[in-house]
Amino acid sequence: MRFRNLKNKENILDESTYVIKNPEEYRGMWKKVFNNNNPLYIEIGMGKGKFIIENAIKNPNINYIGIERQDNALARAVKKVPVGLSNLRLISMDAMNIEKVFDKEVDRIYLNFSDPWPKKRQGKRRLTSKIFLDKYENIFKKESNIFLRTDNEGLYTFSIESLSSSGYSLYDVTFDLHRDFSDLITTEYEDKFSSNGDKIYSLKARK
Ligand code: SAH
Repeated sequence: MRFRNLKNKENILDESTYVIKNPEEYRGMWKKVFNNNNPLYIEIGMGKGKFIIENAIKNPNINYIGIERQDNALARAVKKVPVGLSNLRLISMDAMNIEKVFDKEVDRIYLNFSDPWPKKRQGKRRLTSKIFLDKYENIFKKESNIFLRTDNEGLYTFSIESLSSSGYSLYDVTFDLHRDFSDLITTEYEDKFSSNGDKIYSLKARK
């Protein structure tokens, strides 16, 4: 999905103190960036950022880092962050390089409405493929926790298989998240799909 081109996106990213420009420099030291020992939750592919920003506002005792490879989307997220939200940072990067940025310090990964890459030959690009799960293994602190939401049945069933074969236990598995759970912080995609009447698939995985 492409976002409308934002003309001054480079300036928006450069000027924002929320955007970490050389994230690799902080590998293993994110605690210092936040100046506390609070848990670190990251969202890969945060898009325009609604979910992670609202989470950061609601949970000041958790540190959040949003990762997004499309600078257009990232710039839109930056424009939404309220002033003084000290427990949030944003990074422009491809999750392929995630191990260069984190080292055994992440407590939870959110994957919300990740690109489904439906063709078989694209399977490796899915953010729950074995390639990515092996990378995540090196960035989790102790327990590995992945929280996933999607509208895409193919990605959902693929993820169930992939996570299970990698030794994860699944819980809170639902084919209709909004029927089964309330008081949810939603994402931009989620709002769009739910308002169309589409059901949201969701699961939590830990090992
Ligand atoms: N989570 C948001 C956006 C979903 S669209 C929401 O629910 O509204 C999926 C997003 O993931 C896109 O913005 C895309 O650029 C990003 N993305 C996909 N693969 C990625 C990768 N390998 N690294 C970083 N971001 C990725």
